[in-house]
Amino acid sequence: MKPTTALSTADYIALEARHNAHNYHPLDIVVERAEGPWMWDVEGRKYLDFLAAYSAVNQGHCHPRIVEAARDQLGKVTLTSRAFRNDQLPHLVKELCELSGFDMCLPMNSGAEAIETLIKAARKWAYEVKGVLNNQAEIVVCKDNFHGRTTTAISMSTEPDYRKNFGPFTPGFLSIPYGDLQALEDAINPNTAAFLVEPIQGEAGVNIPPPGYLAEAAALCKKHKVLLAVDEIQTGLGRTGKLFAFQHENVTPDLVAIGKALSGGILPVSAVLATRDILGRFKPGDHGSTFGGAPFAARVAREALKVLVEERLVEKSAELGEYFKGLLQTIHNPLIHEVRGRGLFIGLELKPQAGGARQYCEALMKEGLLCKETHHHTIRFAPPLVITKEELDWAFERIKKVLSA
Ligand SMILES: *Cc1c(COP(=O)(O)O)cnc(C)c1O
Repeated sequence: MKPTTALSTADYIALEARHNAHNYHPLDIVVERAEGPWMWDVEGRKYLDFLAAYSAVNQGHCHPRIVEAARDQLGKVTLTSRAFRNDQLPHLVKELCELSGFDMCLPMNSGAEAIETLIKAARKWAYEVKGVLNNQAEIVVCKDNFHGRTTTAISMSTEPDYRKNFGPFTPGFLSIPYGDLQALEDAINPNTAAFLVEPIQGEAGVNIPPPGYLAEAAALCKKHKVLLAVDEIQTGLGRTGKLFAFQHENVTPDLVAIGKALSGGILPVSAVLATRDILGRFKPGDHGSTFGGAPFAARVAREALKVLVEERLVEKSAELGEYFKGLLQTIHNPLIHEVRGRGLFIGLELKPQAGGARQYCEALMKEGLLCKETHHHTIRFAPPLVITKEELDWAFERIKKVLSA
């Protein structure tokens, strides 16, 4: 075999196709390195990243401060397991609670694991506090949700592609239309433990619910003694122009799942945030994870959070998001259905007669801009939050060219 550096894009694609399960349909660019919002492929071509790894690299690729913290921690200790204590986890959970205003937190690794943890916490609360009879707890979820790919997460899904041939499914979920408060009230019964919702549905196409939805849902939950559980894995940590997207409506959920940008894209780090009344119910042996709360993960997450705050990335997302959405709204093309978004979380939905968003993403790639279609007809614009106004202008020229063609 030739040395790796001599492989072409086509060679890499062929190798991957032969040996890797085909569970994704990536754009045909093979990335070799990245810095801030930019990526370079194995042929030396340069691209602006407008996906930010589904918002896992809000702080930009290989942020020097996060990389330095990681390097330093690599020279100390990376993993203790929770069988022993380490000197980084206590700092992380304290800093996360101070930043978010919650009492307690439970660190895990992937987003899907945070969701599993959140469900276990909600069910435990329902049995121990609300008095729901054993194994009867129900969780209300929304149609077109995305909460991950574990068997329980897909049990909540209404997307046929995510579920086909993966059953049987975890019982105890009831799905209602997103944005429909009457459906929520109708779905709640004495066995309802929680309502799990994304403040903006990312994977479903940057779907923004009607104004006041989350606040009203919170009031309904409170009235019926149901926990409001919010999946902020994609929308959280600055993406929508607030630290958490639920802050757009001034609500305080009972449970929050975060992940993705919690590590600035260095490694999978997730967490559940909640009040002591909920997370305080876990006891030794209840739940765990070998890597969850590892000193390496905790050190990286601490620095990733500091970068988010000290570089004012949340505020930048709000300002630049408004600016960029305004630019996109000036494109006149009868095939565009709508441009919508909050902060730098923007969806451009095409009408069905446009023939799908994929071809536009491929055309944008040829122009040096990396976007990913979501749910067939929507192009999601979600660059790293370290992007500059000038870089957004650069991107806009290319988007305008491709969408006007
Ligand atoms: C990405 C995502 C998840 C799952 O996170 P993984 O780290 O891929 O397991 C769950 N919920 C939402 C809203 C997401 O965007």
